[in-house]
Amino acid sequence: MVGAGFAGVECVRRLERRLSPEEADVTLVTPFSYQLYLPLLPQVASGVLTPQSIALSLRRSSRYRTRIIPGGAIGVDLGAKVCVIRTITDRIVDEPYDYIVLAPGSITRTFDIPGLTDHAFGMKTLAEAAYIRDHVISQLDLADASQDPAERASRLQFVVVGGGYAGTETAACLQRLTHAAVRRYPRIDPGLIKWHLIDIAPKLMPELGDRLGRAAQEVLRRRGIEVSLGVSIAKAGAEEVTFTDGRVVPTRTLIWTAGVVASPLIATLGAETVRGRLAVGADLRLPGHDGVFALGDSAAVPDLAKGTEGAVCPPTAQHAGRQGRRVAENLIATLRGLPTRPYLHRDLGLVVDLGGADAVSKPLGVELHGLPAQAVARGYHWSALRTQVAKARVAADWALNAFAGDDFVRTGFQARKPAKLKDFEYTDAYLTPEQVRERVEGSGRARL
Ligand SMILES: Cc1cc2nc3c(=O)[nH]c(=O)nc-3n(C[C@H](O)[C@H](O)[C@H](O)COP(=O)(O)OP(=O)(O)OC[C@H]3O[C@@H](n4cnc5c(N)ncnc54)[C@H](O)[C@@H]3O)c2cc1C
Repeated sequence: MVGAGFAGVECVRRLERRLSPEEADVTLVTPFSYQLYLPLLPQVASGVLTPQSIALSLRRSSRYRTRIIPGGAIGVDLGAKVCVIRTITDRIVDEPYDYIVLAPGSITRTFDIPGLTDHAFGMKTLAEAAYIRDHVISQLDLADASQDPAERASRLQFVVVGGGYAGTETAACLQRLTHAAVRRYPRIDPGLIKWHLIDIAPKLMPELGDRLGRAAQEVLRRRGIEVSLGVSIAKAGAEEVTFTDGRVVPTRTLIWTAGVVASPLIATLGAETVRGRLAVGADLRLPGHDGVFALGDSAAVPDLAKGTEGAVCPPTAQHAGRQGRRVAENLIATLRGLPTRPYLHRDLGLVVDLGGADAVSKPLGVELHGLPAQAVARGYHWSALRTQVAKARVAADWALNAFAGDDFVRTGFQARKPAKLKDFEYTDAYLTPEQVRERVEGSGRARL
C-alpha cells in the first residue's frame, strides 16, 4: 500500500480486519506516521485547531499487523513488480510486491506563471498550514514595528488564489485570524488589512449552486474580503503580485490553492492517465497490469453514479475513503478467486466552514447557511475523524477557541527553512520511468 491518506488508511484497515495473517502480509509506505485530516487544515492555519488534532496516528488505530515503511515511493516498475522507496533517512530500497495499491494522493497544481513556485505557499500539508500561520502573524508583527508606510501596506495585504472550498475556507479562516489579532496591535490601522480571494472561474464553488454560492460570497464581502472572479495571477514576486486584470497588489503573502494534480509517482509508471490521474477501471484495477489497484486523488475512477460517459469521481475525501474500502474488498476477492465489484457512490454534498458562526452546506441537496450549516459542517467533520482521541482534541480545541480565543503566538521554529511549494510537497523526489527500469533491472533482484 502506497500512501496513508483517506484512501490508503481505509483500505489497510479493512484488509487487516478481513484477512488473516496467513493470507497476506500488508506493508504500508508512508512518509508520515499519521493520516492528515485535510479538510480541517484551514483551521490549523488560523489557529482554531492545533496541528496535532488533525494528525491521526497510524499506530493508534491500526491493529499493529501492517509493516509500516517510513518513506515515500519514488517509482514503481509494474513489469518487475517492484516499488522503489526513498526512506526518511534518504536510503533507497526496492520493495517487491504481489499486489500494489496506489493511493499517494495529489499535490498542488501550479501553472507556468512567472515567480509562482518561488513565492506562493500551498495548503496541502500540515507543515504548510503551520508555516502560513506563523507567516501571517509575523506580517502583523513586522508591520507593527515598521516605520515605512509602503512596507506596512504590503505586509497587511494577503492574496488567496482559488475559489474552491480549500481556498474559500483558507481566506475566510485566516481573515478571522487577522481581524481578531489586530486588536492586540494598537499601532496597526485595521483598515489597512486587506484579504483578496481570486479565481479565474466566474463563480465561487460552483458545486454549491447559485444561491449558496451567493450566500458564501456575501459572508466574505461582509467580512471585507475582496472577491475577484475571472481573474488569476500574471506574475508573483517577493513583495507584490500582479493580477491578470492588470492590478498590482503589494503583498508578501500569496496562498495558491488553485486545484490539485495526481502525485508525481503516477508518471513514473508509464501507464495511461486521464489529466494526470491513473486511468483505472470501475473496480479500481489498472487494466493490462496484474495486481495493481489505484484510488483517491491519484486515480481517475469512473463515476458510475453520474451515468455520463467519461465522468470520473472528483478528488474528495468522501470518495477516497469509500474507494479505499472497495479496493480492499476487491483485492480480497482477487486473492480468493472471486469476482470484483465496481465502485459506486452518490455524492453526499459539501460543507464549507467559513469560521465562527459562518458556513454554507449542502448535505444531500439541502441548502443551508449560517449556524445550521456550521452545525452540519462541524458535525460531519467531527464524526469523520477516525480516532476517539482526535475527536476529543478537536472538540476541546473548538470549545477553547470559542471561549478563550487565540494567543496569536508565532512559534518561529520553521522561520528560516526553505518554504517553497516543492519544499513542502517533495515534488523533486521522484524517478523517471527509465530510471525506475534501470534501477530494478540493474539490481538483478529475484522477482516474486
Ligand atoms: C484544504 C483542503 C480542504 C479539503 N476539504 C475537503 C472537504 O471538505 N471534503 C472532501 O471530501 N474533501 C476535501 N478535500 C480533499 C480531500 O482532502 C482529498 O480529496 C483527499 O485527501 C484524497 O485522499 P487520498 O487518500 O487520495 O489522498 P491524501 O489524503 O492526500 O493522502 C495521500 C497520502 O499519501 C502520502 N504520499 C504522498 N506521496 C507519497 C509517496 N510517493 N509515497 C508514499 N506516500 C505518499 C501523503 O503523505 C498522504 O499521507 C480538501 C483538501 C484540502 C487540501
